Amino acid sequence: MSQQQPDPAPGRRASELGASELRALLNRAAHAYYVLDAPEMEDPVYDRLYRELLELESAHPELQTPDSPTQRVGGAPAEGFQSVEHRIGLLSLDNAFSMAELEAWYGRLLKVLDRETASAHGALPELPLVAELKIDGNALALSYEHGVLVRAATRGDGQRGEEITANVRTITAVPLRLQLEQPPAWVEVRGEALIPDGTFAAINTERSERGDALFANPRNACAGTLRQLDPKVVAARRLDFFAYTLHLPDDWQPTNPPRPTSQWEALQWLQAVGFRVNPNAALCPNLAAVEAFFAQWDSRRRLLPYATDGVVVKLNDLRLQADAGFTQKAPRWAIALKYAAEESPSRLLRLSCQVGRTGVVTPVAEFEPVPLAGTTVSRATLHNADRLAELDLHAGDTIVVRKAGEIIPEVVRVLAELRPAGATPLALPRACPECGSELVREDGEAATRCVNSSCPAILRGSLRHWVSKGALDVDGLGGKLIEQLVDRGLVGSIADLYRLDAALLASLERMGETSAANLVLALEASKAKPWHRQLYGLGIHHVGEVNAKALARAFGSMVELASAAAESPEQLTAVEGIGPTIAESLRQWLATGANRRLLEEIAACGFALAASEAERQGSGAHGPAPLAGRTFVLTGTLPSLSRSQAAARIEAAGGKVSGSVSKKTSYVVAGDEAGSKLSKAEGLGVPVLDESGLLSLLEGAISAPQDG
Ligand code: NAD
Repeated sequence: MSQQQPDPAPGRRASELGASELRALLNRAAHAYYVLDAPEMEDPVYDRLYRELLELESAHPELQTPDSPTQRVGGAPAEGFQSVEHRIGLLSLDNAFSMAELEAWYGRLLKVLDRETASAHGALPELPLVAELKIDGNALALSYEHGVLVRAATRGDGQRGEEITANVRTITAVPLRLQLEQPPAWVEVRGEALIPDGTFAAINTERSERGDALFANPRNACAGTLRQLDPKVVAARRLDFFAYTLHLPDDWQPTNPPRPTSQWEALQWLQAVGFRVNPNAALCPNLAAVEAFFAQWDSRRRLLPYATDGVVVKLNDLRLQADAGFTQKAPRWAIALKYAAEESPSRLLRLSCQVGRTGVVTPVAEFEPVPLAGTTVSRATLHNADRLAELDLHAGDTIVVRKAGEIIPEVVRVLAELRPAGATPLALPRACPECGSELVREDGEAATRCVNSSCPAILRGSLRHWVSKGALDVDGLGGKLIEQLVDRGLVGSIADLYRLDAALLASLERMGETSAANLVLALEASKAKPWHRQLYGLGIHHVGEVNAKALARAFGSMVELASAAAESPEQLTAVEGIGPTIAESLRQWLATGANRRLLEEIAACGFALAASEAERQGSGAHGPAPLAGRTFVLTGTLPSLSRSQAAARIEAAGGKVSGSVSKKTSYVVAGDEAGSKLSKAEGLGVPVLDESGLLSLLEGAISAPQDG
């Protein structure tokens, strides 16, 4: 099924890629991100590579260097602004990417606080936590003296940030004076400045009209705005701000509002003195409550008018926070629980090739499994030879893989900086990995194909297609069984399926007597499936379900269809939806000896390859459908037919039923209490029928109008 390419660096895992390569790549990305506000890679890709470096450094401490991004917060303060020292370090947050990592953090926290030993004889202590949305903006440190905003700074490297007071004064959500009757000598407030999504879109539209480079995301737009030299530009961009923490002089004991003793009270305090505080926060008695909050926001976050990238979980008790303290980069008492990534780096393990039922060879990247958008992904299609060349894929490459929600995983790009030395470029093989025959790529075609009609991969694909839901819908004949049948040489064509007996089937792996007997019955029953399904089941290139239906309506049998295809293709192209490409594909298929023999064999098995009498009567299968190309709109209640009955009759006669009236509508069929559709039809001059008019049309008593 697949061709495996040799591993260029056997035994070398992605995580063992050189620490110095990872460091160099991450340092460059961090500079682009923090200093230039123009990220070079996706955040989840950065996060995962960062985690890899962290793990590598903790396993081999000798690899750690002072310039490692794991040893630093953010980037150096940008030039052009005065750099100021923070009164209290403004650090980053550690990340958790799963509930298990959150629990591990909590366990470490308990250890640090020594609660675990204290509770050795009782239940595990549950420390209340606060869960807040992690706003994807930029941290600001606001200094108030005697209640007045005197300084605002970016986070910078955590110790020194850029002084941007004039710019921050333009943010209306930042109070210039605290609502406190007797403010202390100083107050430090931390929070997140952000650009709402709508404003972000408007800024980028304006930039694109001016020919300026676009911001990659709202966070970078916000960072770029905060560093504008002209506060008027900042004012025009309408930044917002949510406060989330504060620092007060130790000896200050106000009464109204009282000095907060917990994070939850701190949020209320901030609100009371005039800050905007994000309303979506929860005081959680335990981790289960945090998990519920996270799950709720994981699905609702897209409804928010600003970006969030997770939930920040904080120990509620401020005294315990102080006890827990900080690591070099982040507080121990808080952690960012990140939403599932939709992009991730992974290491290519091999390039395999799949041969489909039409012989098309699809290259597939197989890589180290990565969690993406809620599932674990380890394979992604590379589409075709052109895409493979465009990616410039080499053996052992680190690739960026993307999967969002239900979307099929794809390889977005290659991180060439992490390529192993001497890696060989990858391309499609010259020979079919299944049957060894030479692969063919026609001029102007994107697809590379195996053209050997007896290739086992093509056979397996065509059998799977024949028994699939939309075709003959045979229950109990799955991919694994088909593989056994083909691999053991028991089935060499569709017709062979109908020659299988129950005893033989029962002897196969994972088959019993009952399932074998049921399968034989299901195969027998499939012979009575409608003609259009038989036609679709043959898997003729371009003949999908819709086209098969249209063709089966117009040509009542394979004999009629074959003679039209060979002698007068214009009869085919007269059918709605059938163009010259499909007509030619049908002609070629029907002219191929192997296919003609297949049709004879299928017929010998008991297939009519034609419409049954009932189908002919129901669909008017003689000649072109009488209502083909006509569009009907139904409105009001008809005297005898229900809406769905009327629609079914129209569709059986080749017509289409639409929900809205336009100039292209052929007829409006109106019953009692017809609404605005009737008046619209009259306004546009669309003919209106009652039920008896529709019935006459269906019976051919009046003729349908020409398109118009
Ligand atoms: P971070 O942004 O992940 O987390 C820390 C920050 O969270 C704090 O500084 C604070 O500003 C913010 N925050 C938001 N809501 C908060 C709340 N309610 N309570 C407390 N803090 C809150 O950490 P970081 O060190 O600023 O940056 C790391 C992030 O930057 C990662 O997500 C990483 O992907 C990204 N990054 C990306 C690239 C790239 O190339 N794409 C490069 C470097 C960093």
